[in-house]
Amino acid sequence: MERRTTRQVSVGDICIGGGSHIAIQTMWDAPLPSNANDQEYQAVLTMLRKYRTMGCDIIRFSYPSKQDHTVFSRVCQDSPIPVVADIHFDWKLAMDALDCGAHKIRINPGNIGARWKVDEVVRSAKDHGAAIRIGLNGGSLPMELRMRAHAQGMVDTALTYIEWFEALDFHDIILSVKDSDTQTTYEAYRNLSGLTDYPLHLGVTEAGGVVSSVTRSTWALGRLLSEGIGDTIRISITDDREFEILAARELLRTIGLDASGIRIVSCPRCGRASFDSQGFLKKVQGRLMESTMPLTVAIMGCQVNGPGESSHADLAVTGIGNRVFIYEHGKLLKEVPVNEAEIALLDRLEVLSHAE
Ligand code: SF4
Repeated sequence: MERRTTRQVSVGDICIGGGSHIAIQTMWDAPLPSNANDQEYQAVLTMLRKYRTMGCDIIRFSYPSKQDHTVFSRVCQDSPIPVVADIHFDWKLAMDALDCGAHKIRINPGNIGARWKVDEVVRSAKDHGAAIRIGLNGGSLPMELRMRAHAQGMVDTALTYIEWFEALDFHDIILSVKDSDTQTTYEAYRNLSGLTDYPLHLGVTEAGGVVSSVTRSTWALGRLLSEGIGDTIRISITDDREFEILAARELLRTIGLDASGIRIVSCPRCGRASFDSQGFLKKVQGRLMESTMPLTVAIMGCQVNGPGESSHADLAVTGIGNRVFIYEHGKLLKEVPVNEAEIALLDRLEVLSHAE
């Protein structure tokens, strides 16, 4: 697939655009920990390391108060992945987050206020070597533009802000034009991609829980990505953040833009099932999806399709009654009692990961 040619913008040690891999993002869903509470702080870092292992490239935090300055500075320094500060309304908070070491800030210049305040933020980002995402949402457009079609309103507004930034010779810009309506989102990104070469951060905003968000995001973002549009992606889900990372990775893999991670093949189960493939998948799914190994793992409920699927998979599991069969590249690797199947599969994955 031919991808749209975009400028490359650095966010910490991650490159966005210019043919780089499509970076996966998520957002921290809680207040920053109290700096005094080291256990809580370490728990944040542990979770960030897990996110990175799962394939997340960039993490965004809300930065609502200067009281968070010390702890946010520590996060920017210690995070295993680049950190973005999400700023609303207060330009001084944007300046403060940049002083903390944020690798990128996300602002909507329209809710920062007077242009001189936006200019101050842009100058500071330039001084700090940080990038800025101009993050527009259909619902936050200036009133006069809300009266027009949201998609074009967002595009026109983004182009205006680009002019403001370029007037200060600032080019480390990433753009987003999200809406909760999928067609509006699709049209806005599509139009914008033809008018600027700054990299685009794709997302559908306020997309709901797992089912609705994955469906809407696949429909809107999948189409854009398939047309070569998009340089970084967040799938916003009202649920655990792991789902956002996994959904983004699965979407990129399905479109052929990312080969990493385990592709799970599992049957829906029917009356012929003599092995609880559903229960087994639930037990191992988390571990499988954390892996970045480019493997196919099949989990099948019976011997009708089990051996057939196993021939296409790197590893396959199927069973009859209390006996479970594990195949590797179509060849029977071992037969184990059902209660040993989980450990047998995960052990084999461990071996394969070290063989890489
Ligand atoms: Fe049914 Fe077996 Fe097919 Fe699973 S693999 S859906 S259990 S026939």
